Amino acid sequence: MKRPQMIAGNWKMNTTYEEGLLLTEALINAHPDPLCEIVLCPPFTHLFGISSLIKTSPIKLGAQTMSQEKNGAFTGEISADMLKSCHCKFVIIGHSERRQIYQEKNTDINQKLTTSIHNQLTPILCIGETLEERNNQQTLSILQNQLKEGLKGLSNDLLINNQIVIAYEPIWAIGTGKVATPDQAQEVHQFIRNFLSSQFSDQLAQQTQLLYGGSVKAENIQALIEKPDIDGALVGGASLTAASFSAIINGAVQTLTR
Ligand code: PEP
Repeated sequence: MKRPQMIAGNWKMNTTYEEGLLLTEALINAHPDPLCEIVLCPPFTHLFGISSLIKTSPIKLGAQTMSQEKNGAFTGEISADMLKSCHCKFVIIGHSERRQIYQEKNTDINQKLTTSIHNQLTPILCIGETLEERNNQQTLSILQNQLKEGLKGLSNDLLINNQIVIAYEPIWAIGTGKVATPDQAQEVHQFIRNFLSSQFSDQLAQQTQLLYGGSVKAENIQALIEKPDIDGALVGGASLTAASFSAIINGAVQTLTR
C-alpha cells in the first residue's frame, strides 16, 4: 500500500502570534500544491488565526497536546472540542517533553489518545527511548510497552476508521543535532509496523503513517524517507523558519518523485 508522506512541524513554545502568521504565510506561498501532507502544530494561541490563513491551502493544522477531559474545572487545559472549533485535524499525544517535564504517564496518554479518536482528531502518538535505554538494549521493549499502553482498549475497527499516526522520536535525538541513522530508524519503524500487524491487523499496519522525529534537517530527510517504513517526519527546531522547513518538504518531495 502506498501511504502518503507527511511532514509535520512542532513549533513547541516558540513564535509570537504575529511571527506564527508570517511563518504560515511563507509556507502557504512556498507550497501551493505539495506532493506530501504538511501539518503545522503551533501553540494553542495561534490555532484559530492560522486556521483562517490555511483555509484554501492544502496545509493542515494540529495541536501539540490536549486534555483528556471534556470540559469543566481544569484551569489552563484545552479540550478536543476547542481544538475542533479551531479546525484542528491532528493532535500530538505523548511527546517526550510532555512525558518528561509534565510527567504524563502511558495511562494519561492512552486517555488523551482515546479522547482524540472519539472526537475525530487524528492523534500523532509519539514514542521513543532514552539514550540509556538504547545503550542497555531496551529500545524495542520500551517502545512495545509505550505502544501497548498507549493503544490499550482501542479496537482495530476504530483505529482503521479514524486513522492514527505514530512518530518514533528517540529522546536522545530530539533537539540534540544527533539524528538516528536511517538503518536505526527503519529497524524501529519496521518493529512498530509488525506490532500493529500482530496486535491489530495487517490493514492497520499498512495504512498507518509512521514518522521519524529527532534532529531532522534538509541534509538528512532524504536518506530517512527512502526507507520503506518511514512515511515522513515530525520536525521541531527546523520547522521554525520557512527556509529550513521548506527545504525539508522539498527534500521529501524530491525523494518521492525520483
Ligand atoms: C520534536 O521535538 O518533536 C523534534 C523532533 O525536535 P527536533 O526536530 O528539534 O529534534
